[in-house]
Amino acid sequence: MPLLEPGSPTDLIATTTAAFTERFGRPPRLVGWAPGRVNLIGEHTDYNRGLVLPVALPHATWVAVAPRADRQLRLSSAQQDALWTGTLDDLEPAAITGWAAYAAGVLWALREEGLEIPGLDLHVHSTVPLGAGLSSSAALECAVGVALVGLLGRSLEDTHDGVPLRDVLVRAGIRAETEVAGAPTGGMDQTVAVHARAGSALLIDFDDGARRHLDLDLEGRVLLVTDTRVSHELTDGGYAARRADCEAAASALGLDSLRRASLEDVEGLTDERVRRRARHIVTEIARVQRTVDALAQRAWSEVARCFLDSHTSMRDDFEISTDELDTAVSVAVEAGALAARMTGGGFGGSTVAIVPEERLSAVVRAIDAAFTQRSYAAPSHLVVQPGAGASVEAVDALGG
Ligand code: ADP
Ligand code: MG
Repeated sequence: MPLLEPGSPTDLIATTTAAFTERFGRPPRLVGWAPGRVNLIGEHTDYNRGLVLPVALPHATWVAVAPRADRQLRLSSAQQDALWTGTLDDLEPAAITGWAAYAAGVLWALREEGLEIPGLDLHVHSTVPLGAGLSSSAALECAVGVALVGLLGRSLEDTHDGVPLRDVLVRAGIRAETEVAGAPTGGMDQTVAVHARAGSALLIDFDDGARRHLDLDLEGRVLLVTDTRVSHELTDGGYAARRADCEAAASALGLDSLRRASLEDVEGLTDERVRRRARHIVTEIARVQRTVDALAQRAWSEVARCFLDSHTSMRDDFEISTDELDTAVSVAVEAGALAARMTGGGFGGSTVAIVPEERLSAVVRAIDAAFTQRSYAAPSHLVVQPGAGASVEAVDALGG
C-alpha cells in the first residue's frame, strides 16, 4: 500500500544541507524544522475565538540557513522554482511576492517584533504536501522562525520582551500569512506547528489562548489522511468570504465573536447564508468539546458521530467541501473507517479518518477505486503518528 512517507529526520537534514551547499557554495549553520498538521475537528473556528483539535504530522518542512556578512537575502526551495533575492530593505509586505511571502514574510514579522534580522541564505525542503490542507504554509513559516531563533543563538525556551519566544514565532507566522501572503487564516496552524507534543493532539481555545495536550490513544486504530489532490488556494477568496460572513453574523448579533453566540441566537439571523455559516461555527465549537470528552471516555461511536456531523455541516452549512472530499469520506466509512471528515480550510485538500488497523488497506483501496471510477486525480494517503513541534538541529552535531 503506497503511502506518502514523512522520511527520516537524519536523511532530510542531510538532503536539505546538501542542497543548501550546492546552491550557495558553503554549508548552512543550522537546520530548523516545523511540522504540518491535520486538524481532527474544529474547522474555521479559530478566527471565531473557538476550539480546535489539531495533531502535528510526522511530515515537516526543513529550513537550512546561514548568516551573511552583507544585507543580502537569498531564499530557495526544493518545492518551488523561483529563487527570491532581496536585501533587508526589501523586507516589507508589499515587496515580498510568491512563495517567499511565507518565508521572507516571517523575517519581516520577526523584525517587527524587535528581533535582529541578519542578511542570510536560506533553503527549504518539505515532505508536507503543498496546498493539501495540511498546513505546509505554517510549517514553512515556523521552520523559518525557529531557524532564525537558532541563528541568533537563542533558545526556544527563552522569552523576548517577556513573551515566550515560541509565542513570538506563532504571532510572526500569523502576520506573515495574513499580512504578507494575504491568507486571512486564524492561527491554529502556527500554534500546533510550534507547540505540538509527540503522541498528543493539541486542544486550543482561541478565546483565552489556553492549550491542552491530550494523549491520543485510538486503541488499535490509526489516523489516515487522504489528500484529494484538489489543491486549494487560501488566498483565493473563498476563505476570506467565509470569515466575512462570520464577522457579519457576530456583528448582527451585537457580539464580538461567534464564540458568544448560542444556537438559538444564530437561528434568529435573517440572512439565510449568514445564518448557515454561523450555525456551522456554533455547532462545530460544541462538537470539538464533545469529541474531546468522547476521546477521553473512549466513546467511539460518539467520536464517529461528531466527525460525520462536522463533515455534513461543512458541506451544507459552510459550503467548503468538494465532490472528492465527500467521496473520500463516505467511501472510507463504507469500507470500515470508524469516522471520517474533511479537514483544513476546505475548497479541496484532505480528509482525516480514524481507521481500525486491520481495515487500513481496505479503506485505502476503496478510496483509490472510487476515485478511479469517477475519473478524479489519484489521491495520496498518509498514516499519521502525532508528531512533535518545531525545533532546531545544529548541522555540526549531525556531521553536516
Ligand atoms: P497549505 O498550508 O494547506 O499547504 P496554503 O495555500 O496555506 O496551503 O499554503 C501553500 C503555499 O505555501 C504554497 O503555495 C507556497 O506558496 C507556500 N509553501 C508551502 N510549503 C512550501 C515549500 N516547501 N517551499 C516553498 N513554498 C512553500
Ligand atoms: Mg496553509
